[in-house]
Amino acid sequence: MPELPEAEVAARQLRARLIGAHVAGVFVGRADIIREGGDTGAWYPESRVTAVERYGKSVVIEFQKARNTRYVVAELGMTGLLLFPEVAIKFPRHVHYTMQFDSPSAGSLRYWNPRRFGRLSLLDRAGLDCYLARRFGCDPLRVTSAEFFQILQKYRRRLKALLMHQQVIAGIGNIYANEALFRAGLHPDVIAGQLAPSAADRLHHAIQTILQQAIECGGSSVKDFFAPDGSEGTFKQQHLVYGKEGLPCPRKCGSLIRRVQSERSSFVCPSCQKIRTCR
Ligand SMILES: [Zn+2]
Repeated sequence: MPELPEAEVAARQLRARLIGAHVAGVFVGRADIIREGGDTGAWYPESRVTAVERYGKSVVIEFQKARNTRYVVAELGMTGLLLFPEVAIKFPRHVHYTMQFDSPSAGSLRYWNPRRFGRLSLLDRAGLDCYLARRFGCDPLRVTSAEFFQILQKYRRRLKALLMHQQVIAGIGNIYANEALFRAGLHPDVIAGQLAPSAADRLHHAIQTILQQAIECGGSSVKDFFAPDGSEGTFKQQHLVYGKEGLPCPRKCGSLIRRVQSERSSFVCPSCQKIRTCR
């Protein structure tokens, strides 16, 4: 957390507020929060925001100045947030980077990341292309069912581990992997390459459906996720298995949801998600 839906919600809010705004200044709280391009920070003042995109769990902001284009990539995975100035921050010492804009409506944007699993990268176009190619697999919202099946076929890894492998499928983390596997009736430890086309199609449908629903709900606010404007996502109320250990299976099969260790905590119904089920 944040995962793909939360990053998408953040990207949409940034797009709505920041496009066209000029950068007035940049404040770097900790130099080591910048993974690449730390020496290019002085370029950004007086540039203008021209686009905001999401890749996996990251948000990419595009800036232009004269005829040059540069980017800031903000990794949100695990504990990163992008926050507008109206949001009161509980632990301001974890604001590691602030961009100030010249218009009052845009205000500023703060990158808050207490555990610093994620970083910022300041890149030109070639650097961004290289960064994206190195770090991101297919986008689960754009991949077709046939492509998804072909990807799964290539791997002898366990299904849940593969779903969370960002260089294979970018954007799914523990929450949405658990939810998608339950909805598809598949056990996290099934070997990806053994899935029949019918099961892969069911999983593909489950992934796309829950990611879309979660985006529409503003994401899932679990462990302190807030959108840039401070709003909380409500998709948590539609979680069927994540964090539901000991509760009855929502399919009313009579079993209780169990927590098992499989690539972080997995929540499964032992009746509806059998390890033998591959189709
Ligand atoms: Zn069940």
